[in-house]
Amino acid sequence: MASAQYPTKAITMVVPFAAGGPTDTLARNLGLAIGKQLKHTIIVENVGGAGGNIGVTRVAKAAPDGYTVLLHHIGMSTSPALYRNLDYNPLTDFEYIGLVADVPMTLIARGNFPAADFKEFLAYVKANKAKMSLANAGLGAASHLCGLMFMAAIETDFTTVPYKGTGPAMNDLLGGQVDFMCDQTTNTTGQILGGKVKAYGVTTKTRLAALPNVPTLDEQGLKGFEVAVWHALYAPKGTPKAAVDTLVKGLQESLKDADLKTNLAKLGTEPTTQARATPEALRTFLKSEIDKWAPVIKKAGQYAD
Ligand code: ASP
Repeated sequence: MASAQYPTKAITMVVPFAAGGPTDTLARNLGLAIGKQLKHTIIVENVGGAGGNIGVTRVAKAAPDGYTVLLHHIGMSTSPALYRNLDYNPLTDFEYIGLVADVPMTLIARGNFPAADFKEFLAYVKANKAKMSLANAGLGAASHLCGLMFMAAIETDFTTVPYKGTGPAMNDLLGGQVDFMCDQTTNTTGQILGGKVKAYGVTTKTRLAALPNVPTLDEQGLKGFEVAVWHALYAPKGTPKAAVDTLVKGLQESLKDADLKTNLAKLGTEPTTQARATPEALRTFLKSEIDKWAPVIKKAGQYAD
């Protein structure tokens, strides 16, 4: 039970993807900032698999005592259309805390991929698509969604390779076992700037301050190609209101944290606004995102059971 002194011990923040990936990186940065506010450690627990749905289910069924929270992304709104049998309902199984950040994505390939720029990449795809592999973090992951949108935009299908998160996918990309992926700047910026992977485009309308030399996909001919991965914090349904209120306050104060802002800026993103870091804003936004993605996914015709 949450007491008047909540929290009295460490809080577990479940990340529904493997360690070392973008959600994990965001969670560790956010966890430090919230921990400072709540004066207790935030322990990040990685529960990857099934495009994030194993970790989300874990939190939906966790004790609603304020000591388990979930950091998840846009997948919370796409999974209901992608999975016929979800073990949770995003609209009824959670208490909402608030939105956290919108993270841009990048189209990247292994460092020795034989294309210097996006034009060469497309030419290579034309001749070699049958032997190319596209990594993602499973059906429902942001990398999966971005890959779907990319395949639709260039009217090409690729063999996809699912991982428990794009952390391990990045390891295989660095090792040359897979060819390319679409992943968040929180996972790719360091590797791009370090010259370890090739970057062919960012998924924002304008270039990013953190990656000024990477053109947008939009400016390279994929008109209107835009995807930002929104992230939010949740607690299991039934978490006491006092604990939720404390978590909301902790989130809002954390988003003003100078270290968090600096660290996220280096990773090509920033904390969301105070107005979006509320349960009401998240509830309304989540519902609108579920409504937005259902027809898009239906059209793409991708399902899992
Ligand atoms: N968020 C990533 C994705 O959706 C996966 C991860 O965080 O590892 O692709």
